[in-house]
Amino acid sequence: MLIVMHQKATRDQIDRVVKEIESRGYKALPIPGGDRVSIGVLYNKGAVDSAFFISLPGVKEAIPITRPYKQVSREFHGEDTLIQVGDVTIGEGHMVIMAGPCALESEKQAMTIAEKVKKSGAHMFRGGAFKPRTSPYTFQGMGEEGLKILEKIRMELGLPVVTEVMDHDTFDLVEHYADVIQIGTRNMQNFSLLKRAGKAGKPILLKRGMCATIDEWFMAAEYIIEGGNSEVILCERGVRTFVRHSRNTLDISAIPYVRRESHLPIIIDPSHAAGRREQVIPLSRAAIAAEAHGLMVEVHHEPENALSDGAQSLYPEQFDLLCSQVQAIFGIFNK
Ligand code: PEP
Ligand code: MN
Repeated sequence: MLIVMHQKATRDQIDRVVKEIESRGYKALPIPGGDRVSIGVLYNKGAVDSAFFISLPGVKEAIPITRPYKQVSREFHGEDTLIQVGDVTIGEGHMVIMAGPCALESEKQAMTIAEKVKKSGAHMFRGGAFKPRTSPYTFQGMGEEGLKILEKIRMELGLPVVTEVMDHDTFDLVEHYADVIQIGTRNMQNFSLLKRAGKAGKPILLKRGMCATIDEWFMAAEYIIEGGNSEVILCERGVRTFVRHSRNTLDISAIPYVRRESHLPIIIDPSHAAGRREQVIPLSRAAIAAEAHGLMVEVHHEPENALSDGAQSLYPEQFDLLCSQVQAIFGIFNK
């Protein structure tokens, strides 16, 4: 916290503030300025009671500086976190591509897509077995049957799998089958689910809430780490804005900001940001150029018949092109 004194604050008033800071076990750092003195409060572990300091004579303002998140922050953990999923390393110096359909629809559909995305260079397979759908009348996912298909894909193709968990009831089941457990945009602030994720033995892919600030997103990750699971991958998937030319607005500026503030890996989901296929490749290129640590992309061999998110799903040939383009871009920054 920074305490800013009034221009006419007296020496005694400044000394009193310093004394109050030190009596709480913090360090006071007076910073003389052109026309007023400010006093930095250092080494406080938690929040400082700003209301108390504002009430002291001669104090103009008390500005909080310490971030509300701790374990997510680079101040707490300077080194970039690397997450190992089978042979795949996620984090600084690596680019992970996760690809597959929005929803698992049948073994044949999933296997067909998995074979194609693997051939193009995907490192992991994605597919929802429990789907958070806006309408209760649309396809809700295959449930455990879908998870068994994911297991088969891992066994037969050697691709680790990522799939979404929606609630407590199915957490154990998803944790059993998944290599990475996804928490979707709609559950980013489901705090009891985040606490359960903190007890999980698998990495968590935490999507940004569609209306969440980055601080709120970081605090959601803080719940998981505080709960005991330090393996969190952040995933930006677009936020709600006033525009109509895309389903959401991909916040590219989140990438450099997250990389500066946090040690956790950040990947981009261009599919749910765009909502339409023709924007997915350009957004993917932009994400890797902005130094995201990877992508999560929806791909379907017959998107016109997809049971969910067909309009934003790439054809396998398009995904093939995407992989070669983003690999080239990644190569520019990682010689
Ligand atoms: C998904 O990835 O299947 C999904 C539902 O994404 P989001 O939570 O970002 O909408
Ligand atoms: Mn989807």
